[in-house]
Amino acid sequence: MARATAKKSSPASMAVFPGSFDPLTNGHVDIIERASEIFPQVIVAVLFNPSKESLFSQAERVALISKQFARYKGRVSVVSFSGLLVDFVQSTKSRVVIRGLRAISDFDYEAQMALINRKLAPKIETFFLTAREEHSYISSTVVKQVALLGGDVSKMVPKVVEQALSKKWQERQRLRRRPL
Ligand code: ADP
Repeated sequence: MARATAKKSSPASMAVFPGSFDPLTNGHVDIIERASEIFPQVIVAVLFNPSKESLFSQAERVALISKQFARYKGRVSVVSFSGLLVDFVQSTKSRVVIRGLRAISDFDYEAQMALINRKLAPKIETFFLTAREEHSYISSTVVKQVALLGGDVSKMVPKVVEQALSKKWQERQRLRRRPL
């Protein structure tokens, strides 16, 4: 009987899920969970982009994702990166980039990025996972807008993120009330 054998820790056993994660949403959580059912190890790579203003600092974004996935131990790891994605992926010895697709509107940009990355590093493949219907309206941008206006985001983000957003909202309220 033929038996398929997979070399332990072969490059395809690891996948990199890059993004801004400002902050982590239920949409991201679902993609990470589904990717970790396919790949033995998922590296969540949090992009440090100094030219883009973020609500959460780099360290805060990494800490929130690490907290959410603490029970996954070595199967999900969280790291920061800056610069070219393909350089980072190659430094991990992985060959797989995971991206989520919410709607057709995501497709143009994502396909362009995947093609550029292939030009830069032909061995790296981009795998797309479609968002669950119930998450397809969720984006970090919408979550921030709602939360900073004091709205309920409990159905859009994990508890740890909801608490962190509530702190940010309280800080902003305090600053607003401070006499000039
Ligand atoms: P980026 O700035 O790289 O797009 P994001 O944090 O916005 O960073 O998104 C990271 C990845 O997660 C992207 O592939 C994006 O398409 C995917 N994603 C974002 N929101 C959702 C969602 N609600 N469901 C599924 N995938 C999502």
